[in-house]
Amino acid sequence: MSVVENYDYIQSKIKKHLAKVGLKSMPRVIAVTKYVTIERAKEAYDAGIRDFGENRIEGFLDKKAALPNDVTMHFIGSLQSRKVKEVINEIDYLHALDRDSLAKEISKRATHTIKCFVQVNVAGEASKHGLSLDQVVPFIQNLSKYEHIEVVGLMTMAPYIDDEDQLKDIFTQLKSKRDDIQALKLNYAPCTELSMGMSNDYAIATEAGATYVRIGTSLVGKEE
Ligand SMILES: *Cc1c(COP(=O)(O)O)cnc(C)c1O
Repeated sequence: MSVVENYDYIQSKIKKHLAKVGLKSMPRVIAVTKYVTIERAKEAYDAGIRDFGENRIEGFLDKKAALPNDVTMHFIGSLQSRKVKEVINEIDYLHALDRDSLAKEISKRATHTIKCFVQVNVAGEASKHGLSLDQVVPFIQNLSKYEHIEVVGLMTMAPYIDDEDQLKDIFTQLKSKRDDIQALKLNYAPCTELSMGMSNDYAIATEAGATYVRIGTSLVGKEE
């Protein structure tokens, strides 16, 4: 399938699910290009996509260099503190701020404000990164001492399951935590955004209020 066809399908599905719950604004679709070639990423660009996500430094820098410069680049993977300096100033949005040592390193190395999502492991899966829901508020309050970090929102990766009620519950819990942080009115943490939903669950995340969905397999495919 061409990216155009997949993107059309995804957008119409998103619209259908928004309408179902009475929401109006479309989440931004981030094309996760970590499995595919530069050519396929360019095809996504030609389909009108301007947000791109990669989870490794090499792939991130390669795609960024190859794409036109009006794209927004999202780093969606976990970032080792010692590697921050290699990539941080190339990042528009970091979706995986999950520990104090990383925040400290970013504030040391960044030369502009980095828009960050705090990653939350809502379901408490051992295999996933991220803070528990209870840790989120104290973690964000403690970021006040760092420069160059703006908490634009929260991010989660849901478990790979089919149970729609359980998925909706996970996304709704993240949204409610997002609302709590917004209510604190911290100037460095406006926390208006929700990065949630992947190929398996973006429709449910959309219904729960996602403002960014990160889609790889269903949008650009998964090549070797
Ligand atoms: C790979 C990845 C995605 C996209 O996954 P698909 O299931 O292929 O859509 C989204 N978010 C993160 C953090 C990822 O690592």
